Amino acid sequence: MVCDPRFHALLASFDLEAMERHAGAVLGLWNDCTIAYLNPAWYAFSRLNKGEPAISTWWDLGASVLDAISPPLLPFYLTAFSDCCQAMTPWEHVYECSSAECFRQFHMTVYPLTQNGEMLFVHSLAVERQHDPLERSPHVADEVLYRDRQGVISQCPHCRRVRHGADYNRWDWVPDWVHKQPSQLSDALCPPCTYYYYGKS
Ligand SMILES: [Zn+2]
Repeated sequence: MVCDPRFHALLASFDLEAMERHAGAVLGLWNDCTIAYLNPAWYAFSRLNKGEPAISTWWDLGASVLDAISPPLLPFYLTAFSDCCQAMTPWEHVYECSSAECFRQFHMTVYPLTQNGEMLFVHSLAVERQHDPLERSPHVADEVLYRDRQGVISQCPHCRRVRHGADYNRWDWVPDWVHKQPSQLSDALCPPCTYYYYGKS
């Protein structure tokens, strides 16, 4: 079991065997958002999240999950984590984590362990299907079309669509850049995802 011994006592009211068997990632965090517990499914989940082979060795006890959260999403998550612990009430959130081929949504429940900020995260796969070509028609990864005047490509960290370089109101699904990120990529929330996270577009 990958768990900091000091964290173990905070999990006394949870079924540890069930957490270890859970198909989705379960992780425990200290109040500075460094990892104190990981279930076996976490490693598969984190590879799916970023697609980097190094992630299963880099992500271990002591690493900070804040490093994995895109800057435009950080204020939302930090506020939610803080509110969750202060109220000592579990918080639920649905988010997208799609690959180039599959649309995926995960359901996350955050259980506050102490008002001091320790938390347990339980992730479950909610939706997994092939992308709907009507909803997200695939576009060719043409850098001339998608780089802005500064040469930057902006990709939404939630839905992974890419902003058109000349028409800033247009966001296209470019599967090649979900599979492999282009150089000089910047995270920028698209209007629908801004609304989803912050209630405004
Ligand atoms: Zn988006």
